[in-house]
Amino acid sequence: MKNTKFSNLDRPETIGQLSKEIYDLVVIGGGITGAGIALDAASRGLKVALVEKNDFASGTSSKSTKLIHGGLRYLKQFDFWLVKEVGSERAIVHKLAPHLVLPEKMLLPLIENGTYGKWLASIGLKVYDILAQVKGDDKRKMLEKKEALKLEPLLPKKILKGAGYYAEYRTDDARLTIENIKTSLNFGATALNYAVVKDFEYTNNRISAVNVEDALSGNGFTIKTKYVISAAGPWVDELRSTNNSKKGKRLHLTKGVHLVFPFEKLPIKQSVYFDVPDGRMMFAVPRGKITYVGTSDTNYNDDKDNVRADLTDAVYLISAVNNMFPKINLELEDIVSSWAGLRPLIHEEGKSASELSRKDEIFTSETGLISIAGGKLTGYRKMAERVVNRITKQMTEEGAILKDCHTDEIPLCGNVDFKKFKHVTKYISSLYERMKPDGFSKYDAWFLVTNYGKQSETILEIYADLTDHDQYVRLAKAELRFGIDYEMVQNPMDFFIRRTGRLYFDIESVRHLLDPILQEFKEIFKVDDAQLLAWKEIMHSELDEHSNFSLEKA
Ligand SMILES: Cc1cc2nc3c(=O)[nH]c(=O)nc-3n(C[C@H](O)[C@H](O)[C@H](O)COP(=O)(O)OP(=O)(O)OC[C@H]3O[C@@H](n4cnc5c(N)ncnc54)[C@H](O)[C@@H]3O)c2cc1C
Repeated sequence: MKNTKFSNLDRPETIGQLSKEIYDLVVIGGGITGAGIALDAASRGLKVALVEKNDFASGTSSKSTKLIHGGLRYLKQFDFWLVKEVGSERAIVHKLAPHLVLPEKMLLPLIENGTYGKWLASIGLKVYDILAQVKGDDKRKMLEKKEALKLEPLLPKKILKGAGYYAEYRTDDARLTIENIKTSLNFGATALNYAVVKDFEYTNNRISAVNVEDALSGNGFTIKTKYVISAAGPWVDELRSTNNSKKGKRLHLTKGVHLVFPFEKLPIKQSVYFDVPDGRMMFAVPRGKITYVGTSDTNYNDDKDNVRADLTDAVYLISAVNNMFPKINLELEDIVSSWAGLRPLIHEEGKSASELSRKDEIFTSETGLISIAGGKLTGYRKMAERVVNRITKQMTEEGAILKDCHTDEIPLCGNVDFKKFKHVTKYISSLYERMKPDGFSKYDAWFLVTNYGKQSETILEIYADLTDHDQYVRLAKAELRFGIDYEMVQNPMDFFIRRTGRLYFDIESVRHLLDPILQEFKEIFKVDDAQLLAWKEIMHSELDEHSNFSLEKA
């Protein structure tokens, strides 16, 4: 298995290439939408460049509930088309990366005066299955109270009437994004993080180039291109303003917060989609050492580059959990981590945050800026297909010979020979056998495989060449070297937050690994002590902001 080099150690060459060539398409934004577009367009034969102002997936695409789901609640809004599309996408995205998009059974408790009565839940879940063409064992089951309690003894016995039990998938959004970008490189795309689009250049009143600032050096460079798609998520309207085309529809941003607890504090047996007293619904998802819950949904008009979970969000989510799981008595001190993100939704007059549609929309300006916003992580592939179709239609009319969209058949990096989930579980067991002699647990093998798939082999090869006494430091260093060479890791935040998810799912390990990982950065990037100290301070403040919700802080 060969990995494609994708490293900031080659940054000058990458910028040189971006400045020299003429591209068919520049994609602005390295979230899941931009990543999906880059793969779709490159695999059809377009010459593609993708630029991301921060790190890949640093916007909304590392802050979602991390579910590849059909969106049961959209049925209540009669968004049948959306449910059909994203529902059907689940099985496809699972096939493309079975190690990263894992089956996850969902329990929908039916409670007195809840959102769903038995009849509505039964019909709703049936329609959900039909729209998404769910087959076999994955079809929904309706459970009696006793059966529901057997599956999840923590549910509220007094008010429980039964439950729905249905199939969804769980993923890691940031890794899904990076694997799409890496896969696009295999079709000739070029991608760069820490590269901010500042302005556009025009020829005959059409965009013909984008002006980019290298966020690391402060230097500017220009990429010449025939087409530009802005997949800038919450920042889409800013680029429309730069292009003088912010007219008509606009974005409506809502903030969603998730909290993370040690698994022992919220030991649910599987994911639960449950009622919140204010009439909303919320997820609780167990994952390895932790359980996370979310989300809130509130209007947001503040700093888009600094979205944080605050005390009000934390109190709201904790009281919702304590209400549904009465034997659990979570407190603010139990929070070990958190994340907060913005939904880039399309504004609709008079509608509240939760009522706004999750459908995507495409805006094309008179000068050719194509912007895509809204949508879901789950539907990224279809969004990409729709927006790239607009360009390929014009290009083929002008004589270009291009392939049709075939991303439903392109396995993502890390997916070698898996085909089915049972192959993934078998691989986890075999990797565990190989790692056990060094003192690793089954969790460690599971962590590697569900993050990297078969790329775990490369990481273990790097591990074999290292000599650290502490096996966890040695493994993290191997992951870091892999991340720097093949995943454009530039700083400790990229590594701990987006490439490995450790800040969310294993925050204690970040505290343990921070110093040795900083030293490794120093060695590889040859940075000075001042830079090292600056990174250390940022990491300490990230650790504090994500986990400290004490009342004194408020
Ligand atoms: C709380 C929450 C929970 C969610 N849960 C789910 C879920 O479970 N399942 C699901 O399917 N969907 C979910 N979603 C929706 C999903 O996460 C989003 O639809 C998706 O991540 C949006 O991706 P994006 O690429 O459009 O935006 P982003 O991920 O925000 O990417 C846009 C990128 O553009 C970059 N950018 C902006 N301006 C510039 C510029 N000038 N130059 C260069 N780059 C620029 C930004 O830095 C950013 O990285 C959730 C959303 C939220 C907020």
